Amino acid sequence: MSKNTFSIGGVHPHDSKISRGCAIEQLPLAPTVYLQLSQHIGAPAKPIVAVGDKVKVGQPIAEPGGFVSAFIHSSVSGTVKSIAPRPDLAGIPQMCIEIAVEGDEWAPGIDLSDTLVTAIPEDNKAIVEKIRLAGVVGLGGATFPTHVKLSPPPGSKCEMIIINGCECEPYLTSDFRVLMEKGEQVVVGAAILSQVMGGVPCTIAIEVNKPEAIAHMEEVIGKLGYKGISVMPMKMRYPQGSEKQLIDAVMHRQVGSGALPISVGAVVQNVGTALAVYDAVQKNKPLVDNTLSVTGECFPRQANLLVRVGTPIKYIIDYLGGVPEDAVKVISGGPMMGKAIANLEASTLKGTSAILFLTAKQTLRAPESGCIRCGKCADACPMGLEPFLLQRLARANDMEALEQNAAQDCIECGCCLYSCPAHIPLLDIIRQAKGAVLGAIRARAAAAKAAAEAK
Ligand code: SF4
Ligand code: SF4
Repeated sequence: MSKNTFSIGGVHPHDSKISRGCAIEQLPLAPTVYLQLSQHIGAPAKPIVAVGDKVKVGQPIAEPGGFVSAFIHSSVSGTVKSIAPRPDLAGIPQMCIEIAVEGDEWAPGIDLSDTLVTAIPEDNKAIVEKIRLAGVVGLGGATFPTHVKLSPPPGSKCEMIIINGCECEPYLTSDFRVLMEKGEQVVVGAAILSQVMGGVPCTIAIEVNKPEAIAHMEEVIGKLGYKGISVMPMKMRYPQGSEKQLIDAVMHRQVGSGALPISVGAVVQNVGTALAVYDAVQKNKPLVDNTLSVTGECFPRQANLLVRVGTPIKYIIDYLGGVPEDAVKVISGGPMMGKAIANLEASTLKGTSAILFLTAKQTLRAPESGCIRCGKCADACPMGLEPFLLQRLARANDMEALEQNAAQDCIECGCCLYSCPAHIPLLDIIRQAKGAVLGAIRARAAAAKAAAEAK
């Protein structure tokens, strides 16, 4: 049994991987897709098509809106019907490009064959540019543009690529299915990432509740013969797949408050991102689809679906039989870090990893009682924070003390909430406080910059 894990905090929720046996299926095309312009970290993309334009699958329809931003490509062929705000998963209006689907014609130059291309181009700059042009972003949740991660700032050096195959959130199984069914492509993608960063070692981290994936990836690595790629079996523990915790578990290095993984020599990419890198570099295929799990005990038709980006959530659910009668909550992502879907008419994003149905019993929150100072929340916090203190400061609106006690470092993992015997909504309270603290930090930085420029 592996002992590889992060050093502080964490919890062990039941893994509930009930869709793990479901092979990836291609979802039939929806009649209409809606591609949100802001579906990555950074500036929203800017449309480069107009209403009435005919587009093909893989054709760019929006360009990066800044340095940290990404291209968006049409995921279908058809006609642009509108470029207008539309409510997102939370019901908040977001600019979207609406495309009515007419057939399935792909842009020229995209290799849709199953042939595995193992020879990696030599020009690393050209590889990073291909990744940028393909609109690849991190598919592990953060959706950070991948080409930016692969361009370390001057003075920093990557020493290791970590491919995150932990999938530590309960219920999620799409990364597991990708490892089992597209393991070769993931390994070529990992070899590309390793080469781009200077031939550094690459570790594929997989938790031990996926022994078939560990064995399969070891076999694929042996077969393909790239140097410096290995599998590291990880102990099961949540939130192992969180970037800072994974770096700690694999490299035994701590990423400081507000710092990036590259500051300790690490670049972390998710399994789905490694696949998207393979597609972009070896097949000229932009990021137009991704695999997501549709699951939950109350959902009779478990599935892992390959879905075109921008497909309406309701279309996916209807394809699988509709919302189950006893489901009271639908979540985008897992139960720990996922977000409640308030609007089933909203569409998937590049980073959508799951649609999860929960029953009233599963979502029931016991009434909140007073803090008994048991310290369980602090023991569980993987960031070494004191959640009981943070919630007290948040309720008192003491912004200065919240910042001093590093509320901004919260990774919103929910371990504190999961552990609290008094059922205090720690995550909700701390998440809100974190947003306010980060807003104040950004405002201060902007004011300091403006003052410096005025001199
Ligand atoms: S949600 Fe934040 S405060 Fe709570 S355990 Fe996770 S990192 Fe710590
Ligand atoms: S776990 Fe809950 S009851 Fe225990 S110290 Fe933390 S906030 Fe208080």
